[in-house]
Amino acid sequence: MWTGDRFLDAARAPARDEPSPRAILGVAVRGPLIVAGPCSAESEEQVLRTARQIAALGRVGIFRAGVWKPRTRPGQFEGVGAPALEWLKSARAETGLPFAVEVGNARHVEAALGAAADVVWIGARTTANPFAVQELADALRGADTPVAVKNPVNPDVQVWVGAVERLTRASITRLAAIHRGFSTYGARDYRHSPMWEIALEFRRRLPDVPLICDPSHICGRTETLAHVARTALDLEYAGLMIETHCDPSAALSDAGQQITPGGLRLLLDRVASDSGDTRPHAAAGALEALRENIDALDEALLDVLARRMEVARAIGRYKRETRMAIRQDDRWHRLMVARIASGANRQLSSRCVRRLFETIHDESIREQQAIAPAPPAVDRIGMGEAAADVSARAPRFRDPRAPAAP
Ligand code: PEP
Ligand code: MN
Repeated sequence: MWTGDRFLDAARAPARDEPSPRAILGVAVRGPLIVAGPCSAESEEQVLRTARQIAALGRVGIFRAGVWKPRTRPGQFEGVGAPALEWLKSARAETGLPFAVEVGNARHVEAALGAAADVVWIGARTTANPFAVQELADALRGADTPVAVKNPVNPDVQVWVGAVERLTRASITRLAAIHRGFSTYGARDYRHSPMWEIALEFRRRLPDVPLICDPSHICGRTETLAHVARTALDLEYAGLMIETHCDPSAALSDAGQQITPGGLRLLLDRVASDSGDTRPHAAAGALEALRENIDALDEALLDVLARRMEVARAIGRYKRETRMAIRQDDRWHRLMVARIASGANRQLSSRCVRRLFETIHDESIREQQAIAPAPPAVDRIGMGEAAADVSARAPRFRDPRAPAAP
């Protein structure tokens, strides 16, 4: 199981005095590799205009554009397909920028290799599917094209590592991994929750595979890009992939998260890594990322709590219709024993679990009493006491394993 300690250790990689150039996806860089370009190649004009403006910044190593787009719903823009490869070739010929495209099946690989794509990447939905990754690995076998593997949509480091292993076994050696965040139910702040600890665990397992952050797909909006990009660089990521479009508001896919090449320049200025010892940054970045995890987990807790209260209210309505007493002490007792046991399996103290569920239960009872009129004045034990007269609070739970009070 992951612990914060390992996270901090992962972030405290030894600093290098003078960065020597290293090749990432076939591009030699001294600092982070910047990959930029539109979500989708939409027209020759859009590709060329965006590529020219990006090349003029002099800070981008690879131009990206999706040619085949995996869209959530049918009927959305699914990319222009192979003809767009010609536009990318023209952009490369004019600007000198190598280009990267996403491939999702063997047919895409054949077309991309046919266009001498400099890099191909495997999208998050594809990484999640071992059949598809194997098909790609087989199709790429023997080609010298560097491959970037996005994290799978589901938060599973094994699946991500497994996808890279399939490529390595197909003798593909020039690899990188792209951290683009994970789908979570009810995510609010991010389009795809970063779950930094998974990416750092990936790097711990495969330290030789450069890790690139894709803040665009993590954030889903432009306001928070700099913050995520800065965190990634503080954590010593090897590069950034930023969706950049000459006219973002007119983009046919992911319009809300793309920035202009001018915006990219400002963003890179803002997040440019200080030279020298990066350890203080790495530690600060790790703390920041851990705190973000706490914030996200607290939000998730509140979501679950709100859903639980909804269910408690539905039970309250049922009790009202069937004229059932609100308090069911046997059920409450069994529930608490079960929760304390499952909390113990998760290293949660019985005190913590008991206090938490007493609070939750009190609130459920209060909510149900607000819904239900008092049932008839005969209670389950036949004492003639009106159920509504029973205390609004559940009885304090006594752990049967606890020593008896003196
Ligand atoms: C993309 O890079 O445009 C894309 C579709 O990304 P992902 O696979 O991360 O959703
Ligand atoms: Mn996109």
